[in-house]
Amino acid sequence: MSDIRIPDEIKPVDGRFGSGPSKVRPEGVESLSAVSRTFLGTSHRQKTVKDQVARLRRGLADFFALPDGYEVVIANGGTSAFWEVATFGLIRDRAQFAEFGEFGAKFAKAVSDAPFLGEPTVHRAPGGQAAYLTAEGGVDAYASVQNETSTGVAVPVRRVPGADPGALLLTDATSGGGSLDVDLRETDVYYLAPQKALGSDGGLWMALMSPAAIERAFEIKATGRYIPQFLDLVTAIEQSRLEQTYNTPALATVFLAAEQLDWMNAQGGLPWAVKRSAESAATLYGWADRSAFATPFVTDPALRSAAVATIDFDDRIDAAQLAKILRANGIVDTEPYRKLGRNQLRIALYPTVEPSDVAALTAAIDYVVERL
Ligand SMILES: *Cc1c(COP(=O)(O)O)cnc(C)c1O
Repeated sequence: MSDIRIPDEIKPVDGRFGSGPSKVRPEGVESLSAVSRTFLGTSHRQKTVKDQVARLRRGLADFFALPDGYEVVIANGGTSAFWEVATFGLIRDRAQFAEFGEFGAKFAKAVSDAPFLGEPTVHRAPGGQAAYLTAEGGVDAYASVQNETSTGVAVPVRRVPGADPGALLLTDATSGGGSLDVDLRETDVYYLAPQKALGSDGGLWMALMSPAAIERAFEIKATGRYIPQFLDLVTAIEQSRLEQTYNTPALATVFLAAEQLDWMNAQGGLPWAVKRSAESAATLYGWADRSAFATPFVTDPALRSAAVATIDFDDRIDAAQLAKILRANGIVDTEPYRKLGRNQLRIALYPTVEPSDVAALTAAIDYVVERL
């Protein structure tokens, strides 16, 4: 069975469907290769590299229609580092979380573990459903996830009605940002990493911050709270204003992310990207709805993500074996999030992925299933 060979005519042109790291466009890698001798291996304190950091920050500002006063802040460590940065530098005392998957849970845990913060309120929902933020007196920071990559549930980015004046909203857009629509005025911090919908490599965090969030960072720093140097948000803000990072970034990651944003902006920016992901989502969920053996894991169609789709398979089909056969045929990283423990495939629908390749993937799955 595992020697099933999917004919080339029905296979996707590019077999990368991972939710992160995700497909990186070959054109981006070629552009990187073209500048490799003048850019890679050169100082991040000099113009050549600072120009690329500037291009990346500008690309993000254009792509997300950065409102007046908002700033693009970049530093090392990926989103996981940003959770610690926010724990030290954005939450005064009490936070509230909407937790509906592994990624939301990790940020909530970081805050709950911090001895200098009050115990957070956590609204939880089981995998495949959404949890929501509700106004609560005394909460100075609310946190939610635009797209829960572990389950394929996406929610709109919206301020919490009735929240205390000055309370911040922090939105984890690591996988949603770039695939799903957003109006940045509806949040104070929209943070993401380059290896998901932005189709670059990992290692950076990028936060689009409102004036209120920037003010909060300076306010907390001024209280004298102990903040590890590497996780100091004020340092990250000040370095970003100079088009640099506090410590050495991965230059290839910076370049590929800037390249990708320029490409997406040239295609039509966020509206184009949202439309393209939605097209892929309609293809994949439509196929699953019609299929005799596959169903979308997320039962509420309004919560089904157009960034990352999770598809359950009925008991006659072993999804792990299916993923293995796809992998042997060059179609990779369709495995589900390990801790979710479902008989499922998880497929990235980021704008980098060709909608025609998503259609081809469904044909490839049908081909394999018929032969199991
Ligand atoms: C991937 C992911 C993260 C973790 O990102 P890293 O850069 O690997 O730390 C956090 N949140 C969400 C929603 C993600 O998809």
